[in-house]
Amino acid sequence: MDTLVIERGGVGGQAGSTERIDNYPGFAEGISGAELADRMRQQAERFGVELLVAQTVASINPGPDSGGVRTVTTETGQEYRAPSLLLTPGTRYRRLNVPGEEDFIGAGVHFCATCDGPFYRDMETLVVGGGNSGVEEGLFLTRFASHVTVLEVGDRLRASQVLQDKAAAHPQMDIRLNTTVREFRGDGKLSSVLVEDLTTGRQEELHPAGVFVFIGLDPNTGFLSDTVELDPRGFIVTGSGPRSSQMETNRHGIFAAGDARAGSTKQVASAVGEGAAALIAIRAHMEDEIRNRGYRGDN
Ligand SMILES: Cc1cc2nc3c(=O)[nH]c(=O)nc-3n(C[C@H](O)[C@H](O)[C@H](O)COP(=O)(O)OP(=O)(O)OC[C@H]3O[C@@H](n4cnc5c(N)ncnc54)[C@H](O)[C@@H]3O)c2cc1C
Repeated sequence: MDTLVIERGGVGGQAGSTERIDNYPGFAEGISGAELADRMRQQAERFGVELLVAQTVASINPGPDSGGVRTVTTETGQEYRAPSLLLTPGTRYRRLNVPGEEDFIGAGVHFCATCDGPFYRDMETLVVGGGNSGVEEGLFLTRFASHVTVLEVGDRLRASQVLQDKAAAHPQMDIRLNTTVREFRGDGKLSSVLVEDLTTGRQEELHPAGVFVFIGLDPNTGFLSDTVELDPRGFIVTGSGPRSSQMETNRHGIFAAGDARAGSTKQVASAVGEGAAALIAIRAHMEDEIRNRGYRGDN
């Protein structure tokens, strides 16, 4: 098989920009996301995979459902054709959508602690979101910030117990439950954050130097529009087609894996595992194509 990977940024996705990955098999001491991504790149290149970076896929034309060629078009208008596609566009951070958020992005409001945390050395920071990402990134921020407060809208943290225990034991961290952000305020740069206690309705103005928002993820599936079946949140549905393997979309020959797939578990190990399972299904699909259509890679 000839394989082309099209990536709008750099190789590595979210894993590549994660400070440390402690739960990927084979790395007993953990590994930095950047190093893991680079090792994966080297391994893919060793097997002849072609990597096309800084190219965004704008649309796909799934072609006839009976098989044959599918076309991928990039934002620059370049077209690539293949008998089978594997969709792995991942996810992006969700916004709070409150007044001021958009105005202060990069000037006090951030979505990546690894990228922007070092700007807040010896300063107070606020993390919005008490899931795995929020608590993990909050713990990471304690390396720089003098204090980190994690706001969680629900009545308990949603992070894993291990992370909750680490946060509870950390002298520079505290957690505020049932609390949400109503507004970001400032003049050119963030100066305060209006928060509300949802149990009492009491509003309060906090003055962190920076705020990091980790409230969930939306799939990067806008470019698919209605070419493959998506669930109500926009994640790619697999395993529902008549001839479908578990990783195949409702379009025969088009597969999906990783965080953008509905029901995925949002971990590097599972994303890689899903990719491997999809590849085996793709190989079977290609063998069918060769048998039924005489496809040899030149049509
Ligand atoms: C802060 C943070 C910490 C994490 N920590 C861990 C951890 O410790 N352990 C763990 O197992 N997992 C962790 N994860 C989750 C892990 O990073 C993801 O599960 C994994 O990266 C998913 O891989 P993916 O390939 O499905 O998607 P992604 O990593 O999101 O990759 C998708 C790629 O597709 C590209 N793309 C999207 N749309 C297009 C387009 N139209 N054209 C071209 N390219 C496109 C994107 O640029 C991106 O590079 C963490 C995630 C975050 C955000």
